[in-house]
Amino acid sequence: MAAQETVEHKYVYDFAEGNKDLKDLLGGKGANLAEMTNLGLPVPPGFTITTEACKAYLTTGREPDGLAAQIEAHLESLEREMGRKLGDPQDPLLVSVRSGAKFSMPGMMETVLNVGLNDRSVVGLSAQAGGNDRFAWDSYRRLIQMFGKTVCEVPGEEFEHALDDAKRAKGTQNDLDLDADDLRGLVDAYKKIFAKHTGREFPQEPREQLDLAIRAVFESWNAERAVVYRRQERIPADLGTAVNVVAMVFGNLGADSGTGVAFTRDPGSGAQGIYGDYLANAQGEDVVAGIRNTVQLQELEQIDKKSYDELLDYMARLEEHYKDLCDIEFTIERGKLWMLQTRVGKRTAAAAFVIAGQLVDEGLIDLDEALHRVNGAQLAQLMFPRFRLDHEFQPVAKGIGASPGAASGKVVFTSARAVELAAEGESVILVRRETNPDDLNGMIAAKGILTSRGGKTSHAAVVARGMGKTCVSGADELDVNVPAKKFIVAGQTVNEGDVVSIDGTTGKVYLGEVPVMPSEVVQYFEGSLDPEHIDNPLVRAVHRIMTHADAKRRLLVRTNADTGADAARARRFGAEGIGLCRTEHMFLGDRRELVERLILASTDEEREAALAALLPLQREDFIDIFREMDGLPVTVRLIDPPLHEFLPPLEQLAVNVAVAQERGEDVAKEEALLAAVRRMHEENPMLGLRGVRLGLVIPGLFAMQVRAIAEAAVEVTRSGGSACPEIMVPLVGAVQELETVRAEAEKIIAEVVGDSGVEVLIGTMIEVPRAALTAGQIAEAAQFFSFGTNDLTQMGWGFSRDDVEGAFFWRYLELGIFGISPFESIDREGVGRLVRIAAEEGRAARPGLKLGVCGEHGGDPDSVHFFHEVGLDYVSCSPFRVPVARLEAGRAAITTTGSDSR
Ligand code: ADP
Ligand code: MG
Ligand code: MG
Repeated sequence: MAAQETVEHKYVYDFAEGNKDLKDLLGGKGANLAEMTNLGLPVPPGFTITTEACKAYLTTGREPDGLAAQIEAHLESLEREMGRKLGDPQDPLLVSVRSGAKFSMPGMMETVLNVGLNDRSVVGLSAQAGGNDRFAWDSYRRLIQMFGKTVCEVPGEEFEHALDDAKRAKGTQNDLDLDADDLRGLVDAYKKIFAKHTGREFPQEPREQLDLAIRAVFESWNAERAVVYRRQERIPADLGTAVNVVAMVFGNLGADSGTGVAFTRDPGSGAQGIYGDYLANAQGEDVVAGIRNTVQLQELEQIDKKSYDELLDYMARLEEHYKDLCDIEFTIERGKLWMLQTRVGKRTAAAAFVIAGQLVDEGLIDLDEALHRVNGAQLAQLMFPRFRLDHEFQPVAKGIGASPGAASGKVVFTSARAVELAAEGESVILVRRETNPDDLNGMIAAKGILTSRGGKTSHAAVVARGMGKTCVSGADELDVNVPAKKFIVAGQTVNEGDVVSIDGTTGKVYLGEVPVMPSEVVQYFEGSLDPEHIDNPLVRAVHRIMTHADAKRRLLVRTNADTGADAARARRFGAEGIGLCRTEHMFLGDRRELVERLILASTDEEREAALAALLPLQREDFIDIFREMDGLPVTVRLIDPPLHEFLPPLEQLAVNVAVAQERGEDVAKEEALLAAVRRMHEENPMLGLRGVRLGLVIPGLFAMQVRAIAEAAVEVTRSGGSACPEIMVPLVGAVQELETVRAEAEKIIAEVVGDSGVEVLIGTMIEVPRAALTAGQIAEAAQFFSFGTNDLTQMGWGFSRDDVEGAFFWRYLELGIFGISPFESIDREGVGRLVRIAAEEGRAARPGLKLGVCGEHGGDPDSVHFFHEVGLDYVSCSPFRVPVARLEAGRAAITTTGSDSR
């Protein structure tokens, strides 16, 4: 037998070996560090341990074979390059150990700085820094703090309290006032905390520190907050994180050092310019943690012109290279600039459109790429209303508009309380000094987030922007007291439960509930803003990209509308017809009485009289809708719900009867209704007497509706309009059902339409699995199919829609049985397969069969892409979703090699 040759798996890449397209393997941070290294930018040397190593560790619980040796080899070459050895007592090399997954998960995972410091190398570090003891001990205490918290799960507050104590003892608020001796004392205190919580001394061996830190980063992939974040952002759970080991550079060496973050354009509005924060004499996390107030990046020009100019040059090069907004982390060590991270930056929905438009103008990308870079979820966000402000409402504070939108709600101070109140249906605003990853659940539950500290790049800001949640950060006039559950602003006390309003665009904070007004984007869609003549970069960009989407898309977009008013609005939003006009509301209100007569009818005459009374009312409804949709198809669904939904509930009727009897009143009608309700009671009404079954059981019911539709179409057409009705039969499972309804309907239509020129199509919904599976037969009798994906999902999965979401979907999501509710986004493999089969077999039986979808999925971005792939002719969705569907239909139609839009 030939000796089996084992090719060693490569788990570690030097920065010089990677590039930006290796995100799956090296994570975003590692891939981009490699890219910058290869562009010749000053990146401290280092290497990346792959996501594969992490996945292997997470499945087996130990480091894969060969990893330790590969780390050793790369560490040695790093040591050679730096001329220093990890943790060497005389002249130590220090490294950072940084997480970095494929998709950025801000603040979710761990990073440990200054690895390699111990009781001896701290002295060497001080010597390296020209005898800067303060710096060395500051770095050491940071290591113990980060290592303790991340690697050994020591509660972070303990370190923070010790730091506060040290500052208090010194009579200062500012960490910069602590001198070397204070920090040495703090290191002792930290070590005690460490030992108390872990039962061991802080590890002095540098390589042990490194290995434990790497392992902690691997494990941070499965930290609860990371799991929650991934679920929220729909990031797959099995990607794993890479680990970057990077030679440390120091921003905490004195006033000529510092650290900062920069954006090549404003991630809030998309405006061109230089945005960022800088903090002198500080290390890494300080900028985002908001421990001291940062200065605007522009001020760096005064502080260190050479580094500033160099940074601007790199920013321009990165934009040119990535052809997109980049966000950057950098550190200046004694006047020398180091680039520590870049990535295509997260941005608000408005900025996404504005930047895509600008990049087209600058010739960096084409319109297809611009279309690819925005999405329907962002457009939906831009259609949210904004505050309507008049003199009554004066802001009480102004922070930073960190994530746009307008939110009002009751103030809460803890994540737990936010979750609690939101579960009771309250709108809440989560108010914190600053948020941290433990606040994630509260942030998800809240309508908006308000913090008194931190800038555009703080945790609150970044996470809120990612979620599309309104956020005002750094409102420093707020004196927030979390334990006392209150904040004080402008001399007023705001307690938990009081209502505030926050504007995430302007950063303004108001007391009470401010009324809202529609967004400019909605005004544009409604036709009241002319995109060519207004000075609004967002509206211009939306107009341009929507125009391109419309030119590219193959799918038509219709709307679900039951009234003339809805139809008119949807048409302004670009609807190209009605895909679902429900008729059930036409049986409500003051028409209930007629429905009751219909249900209670004991003779043919009584029933016919009730139907005859309903006919003209229905006809008027349809006339109204056909007029608004003049020239465009209108799909009318014959009555679908079980009839007892139109009667009062059983309990109420029983009480009415009892009360009336007590009073000696005439209860004949109530008793008849009660008997009818009892008779019509069904254990599973969604699977009972509804849809086409009603039409087959109740003589004249569908006939009346068909007649009303045909007469309305004739009337509209005779008066100069053009009505294009499509009659849709719901809940068909067998072609015979449809044939029966169709035969009767065709007779009526022929009689009504005569020579008016009106054409009425007859088709069916495909919403029962059996219909999908016998679509070839059904197509023989149907002129069109419309997929009712709500029922198809309900019956395909056997999920009672009204019950399951609240009952157990949380568990299914937790277990990853599905990543998103199949009622929200179509289940491609199962329910989607039914759609695919029906589309193919239907078209095979009747070439050119018109296919559409009218479930909620018609307005869901992912589902729209699926319907495009399957070859449907149109999707239909609620009026407000029409622009979203147009945009996504355009995006589905273009293919581009561009970046992942996440
Ligand atoms: P995150 O993903 O949370 O931003 P990072 O890995 O980027 O975490 O690191 C946290 C902070 O530490 C950042 O501000 C980063 O710039 C800084 N940092 C990371 N590595 C180094 C290093 N080698 N030298 C100096 N600062 C570093
Ligand atoms: Mg981090
Ligand atoms: Mg970072």
